[in-house]
Amino acid sequence: MPYLKIRVDEIREQGLTLSAQEQIADYPALLAVQKAGECQFLAPLEISLTIIREYDHIRASGEVGTSVRLACSRCLAVYDAAISSAFTIFYTKASAAVQLDEEVELAEQDLVSATYAGDEIDFAPEIAEQVALEIPFKPLCKEDCQGLCAVCGVDLNAATCGCEKQESSLKFNALQGYKVDR
Ligand SMILES: [Zn+2]
Ligand SMILES: [Zn+2]
Repeated sequence: MPYLKIRVDEIREQGLTLSAQEQIADYPALLAVQKAGECQFLAPLEISLTIIREYDHIRASGEVGTSVRLACSRCLAVYDAAISSAFTIFYTKASAAVQLDEEVELAEQDLVSATYAGDEIDFAPEIAEQVALEIPFKPLCKEDCQGLCAVCGVDLNAATCGCEKQESSLKFNALQGYKVDR
């Protein structure tokens, strides 16, 4: 099943639960993340989803997980990591007027709100967005990674070097790391 499209009239108040394994190749947004060099996806998306009709909206909550290969932003070591996200997304019909105070409330709860038009909802784009948000902006192979020496380039996790450590060069290195990430 390439897309998580559900007909709205099939969603009842008691809810609809589904689990799916989705191929990264079917998710252009994730392929773009991979193409940008931020990570390499190693496994399909494992998705579990509960969809419930509530008042004037559809609530989709669930979890999505996969595993990715990342490059440490400090020492450049390649490592694999599992990523997962638990999410709740509220879908309101695009034509329905959304009251302002309701929008504010959603923002305060840090929940995702989306709209749909027509007879079905494609849950794939928002789920892909949840995965993309979990890809670390500055990946670290470990919390206390020592990085590379800014002077001689030695991996300070594995070796020490005699280089004189100057704070300015460390800062410069951090700045360079920042650029490489983008
Ligand atoms: Zn590292
Ligand atoms: Zn050095």
